[in-house]
Amino acid sequence: MTKKFVIKAIIVSTIGMSVISACKDKAKNYAANDVIYKDLDTSVKPGDDFFRYANGGWLKKNPIPPAYSSWGIGNVVDEELRDRLKKINTEALSAKAEKGSNTQKIGDFYFSGLDTVAIEKEGLDPLKPELSKIDNIKDVNDLVDEFAHLHTIGVETPIAAGVGQDAKNSGKNMLQLYQGGIGLPNRDFYFNTDPHSVTIRTDYQEKHLPIVYKLSGLSADEASAASKQTYNLEKFWADSSRKLMDLRDPYRNYNKMPLSALGKLAPDINWKSTFEKMGYKNVDTVIVGQPEYYRALNKSLKTFTIADWKNYLRKNVVTSFGSYLSKPFDDENFRFFGTVLYGNKEQLPRWKRVLDTENGLMGEVLGQIFVKEYFSEQTKERYVNLVEAMRSTFKEHIQKLDWMSEQTKQKAYDKLAKVVPKVGYPDHWKDFSTLTIDRGPYSLNVMRANNFWHRYNAEKLGKPVDRTEWDITPQTYNAYYNPSNNEIVLPAAQFLVPGVKDEDMDDAVVYGYAAASTIGHEMTHGFDDQGRQFDAKGNLKEWWLPEDSVKFTQRAQMLINQFNGYSIYGLHVNGKATQGENIADLGGIVIGLDAFKKTDEYKEGKPINGLTPVQRFFLGYALGWLGEDRKEALSSQILTNEHAPGFMRVNGPFTDVPEFYEAFHIKKGDKMWINPDKRVKIW
Ligand SMILES: [Zn+2]
Repeated sequence: MTKKFVIKAIIVSTIGMSVISACKDKAKNYAANDVIYKDLDTSVKPGDDFFRYANGGWLKKNPIPPAYSSWGIGNVVDEELRDRLKKINTEALSAKAEKGSNTQKIGDFYFSGLDTVAIEKEGLDPLKPELSKIDNIKDVNDLVDEFAHLHTIGVETPIAAGVGQDAKNSGKNMLQLYQGGIGLPNRDFYFNTDPHSVTIRTDYQEKHLPIVYKLSGLSADEASAASKQTYNLEKFWADSSRKLMDLRDPYRNYNKMPLSALGKLAPDINWKSTFEKMGYKNVDTVIVGQPEYYRALNKSLKTFTIADWKNYLRKNVVTSFGSYLSKPFDDENFRFFGTVLYGNKEQLPRWKRVLDTENGLMGEVLGQIFVKEYFSEQTKERYVNLVEAMRSTFKEHIQKLDWMSEQTKQKAYDKLAKVVPKVGYPDHWKDFSTLTIDRGPYSLNVMRANNFWHRYNAEKLGKPVDRTEWDITPQTYNAYYNPSNNEIVLPAAQFLVPGVKDEDMDDAVVYGYAAASTIGHEMTHGFDDQGRQFDAKGNLKEWWLPEDSVKFTQRAQMLINQFNGYSIYGLHVNGKATQGENIADLGGIVIGLDAFKKTDEYKEGKPINGLTPVQRFFLGYALGWLGEDRKEALSSQILTNEHAPGFMRVNGPFTDVPEFYEAFHIKKGDKMWINPDKRVKIW
């Protein structure tokens, strides 16, 4: 259900340009529109803060706009994409398309989201049938039935269930249960003592929850009491939930059990009938991620009153759909989730928000149109070739490792050879024919789409795994490694850069930007602290000799220590929780650099705009992280995300790479200098 290996969840990056054509065209004048040269801030010494040296020029000219919590190259590309999608939607709206067609669905969805007259008039009315179901709950059995129902329309309940590949048998889909139920993004927000966490939980208890309850019809006193109980309920679960770093061990978070064992963990829930009501058919075995959470859930069924529970569920319904309701609901969701958590100063224009929602719910419909217009077979082929260049260079790196035994190496070659690249867009598209979209209410369109996705997931149970499936759309500025399929998924949008044509990017930049920061990053995820525990077929199974595992872990620990030493706004980076991403970044850089050394540009060694090929490689990598975050967004990221902040993902791993010191003449005494014995080398 959750994608554990997605990169760049907060700041997204795009990939540059021509892989083959750039080196063919030797007469090309790359200096004219040099995407890296024009962003430099030469008042900063590269050895003091490379990120700011590389990107500072752009950052000075591009402050974060009020409606954003961060602003960078990914956002600029995103803006271009929204303009394209707006055109597609506006045309769909006036197309008089056949009922049930994809064109009708996107046009009507867009219409319903922009129909603010109807939205304001309806207020909370569209949710009334759901709220009255909650009012009718009489006992624990009714309550659990309501969990099941709400689950099918995308409302969070304490039972966080989903169908996914069995980690130990990747060809089989299984029902899986996770910890969940809480309203704040992470269990730590209920306990941490840093100012950011305290501000957030204080606002949540004293402002956000009371406002939501008052808007949904409670008096001020009732709202205040309901807020306290809801917070206590969530805090109780948070206390039995695992921390981010404790979710990394795939064995500890894999507890396969028959329903009878689940019944012993949480005896007050009739699991068989609950799963049936959720739409999960014929379940006899489940994989429970965090059993102690389900023990706590069972306890909370008895220690909190039915009245407390009803209030908790009302809040979940109203906040789930608040952004699609009238202004007071929408404003409060934005105030808390946009401003308090991430520091946004104002809302995005409505049309952009509606498009973002549509993109989230029917992304593949838009994606089909997107790739037809913007991603040719020729472009796809270029990036497929770049993947192979990285694969062969990674193999050479493994061959040269002095810490890995020959036996483990042989298995590593096999796993690497079997990494499946998915480049650009899926071979077949998801079928939206059972989704009904009309001209409103907007919130009910969203609810039906949530239900569509729930059914889509639930129907996988008992069917063979579809290994051709994509978990993100081609227009997404992100990429991921899925260990169960041993695959890297690289959407088309990764290959767009604003204001620069394919042919204007030289190989150095492309290898830093695309090969190192994305392709190599994802490929090495298959061999990071988590990924290495899965074999070539995607099964959780030990294939390393124990002594090789020890040596790997020692090297990873050096990187954990390095990142534990970084902090911002008084918050320390969690080296352990971010290790997988940091291992992947460092691996992507060193493999990308050696792949680049095979190109003509490197061999010829001619500078462009005074920058050597190797300097341009490092600058190309840094371009992928061009951008900045607001204090609130960065603080929330450090507490909730397994990715370190973008600037640290440039400056951190670079200090481990000898060629970086050489290329920029970095000496002892420069801020980025670290002693050679402290530099980490894994791949
Ligand atoms: Zn990653």
